[in-house]
Amino acid sequence: MILNEDIWKSLTGPDVRLPHALLFTGPVGVGKRELADALAARLLCEIPRGPHEPACGRCPSCSMMANGQHPDFRLVQPEAESAAEEDAKHSEGEKKKTGRQIRIQQIRELEDFFHVGGHRGGARVCLIDPAEAMNPIVANSLLKILEEPSTSFYFIMISNRWRSLLPTLLSRSRRVVFAPPPIEQSRRWLEEQKLAGEAKWLPFFGQAPRQLFDAARSGRLKALEKLVSDLLRPSEPLALAARWEGLVKDDAGLGIEDLVVTVQKWLHDLGLCRVGHAPRYFDRDALAPLAQRTTLPALIRAQRQIAQLRAWANHPLNPRLFLEDLCLRAFKPLES
Ligand SMILES: [Zn+2]
Repeated sequence: MILNEDIWKSLTGPDVRLPHALLFTGPVGVGKRELADALAARLLCEIPRGPHEPACGRCPSCSMMANGQHPDFRLVQPEAESAAEEDAKHSEGEKKKTGRQIRIQQIRELEDFFHVGGHRGGARVCLIDPAEAMNPIVANSLLKILEEPSTSFYFIMISNRWRSLLPTLLSRSRRVVFAPPPIEQSRRWLEEQKLAGEAKWLPFFGQAPRQLFDAARSGRLKALEKLVSDLLRPSEPLALAARWEGLVKDDAGLGIEDLVVTVQKWLHDLGLCRVGHAPRYFDRDALAPLAQRTTLPALIRAQRQIAQLRAWANHPLNPRLFLEDLCLRAFKPLES
């Protein structure tokens, strides 16, 4: 099954003429890339497809797509991402360390691809993921290609932060807005991925099933489980800092920034509980007794301090000291 069924249907209907450039926007991990891959495969498939039908999966074009070797398809992404995709061991956290930008050279190569005719006589597709990895100079050189008319060339761009894109890029593409899929759809999809038992984690990942999938596959979910259980049954802050340093060193792919983000979610939810609202990421029953021990001003103070700490999370001078600082500030509201 495909996540975001209604978007798929809107792009693959009987009378749909896809525009030259599509821009998929929405939160991380809601299935934008899966849908873009499926759409690219369908556009390139050599067996005629009925409305809403995915690519056949058997023709020469589909096999070339499956092998990542289709001559009429280009994937443009930051080089750190392609390296990480080749090596499944690399986790999200490691990707972040190296080059996250699409280089101008990659767009120049695309120009050649655009101007030289297709190899197989059908459509040609270029997927750019994520579009915000292009700085204005790079994006402008892409714009020059987008402005040239073409009937069988499709650009699919993906963006998690479309507001940071050049207005000219936005105006030349049709935006398709993704949101977290309905929960039942996500559950069915997780079941298909043999992750039915992990569906309880959907709220923690902002209902983004693909984020949950990546965490489960990389082993990060196991480490997150320990982290969450520490947050729900907090002990002495410095002892926790030592434990968390172990989690980061465990090589499960959990980075210090993941720790900070999780603490931020926890403080956010404590605040919601404190004023009688349902938490967004954590389980209400587990969180409510903790929320009783805090005050709103103390939570807000901790949130502010930890937002500042986050700026350093990718390169702390001394990880242990950083984590001690994080824990001391995070658990301070529980003393009030
Ligand atoms: Zn096919």
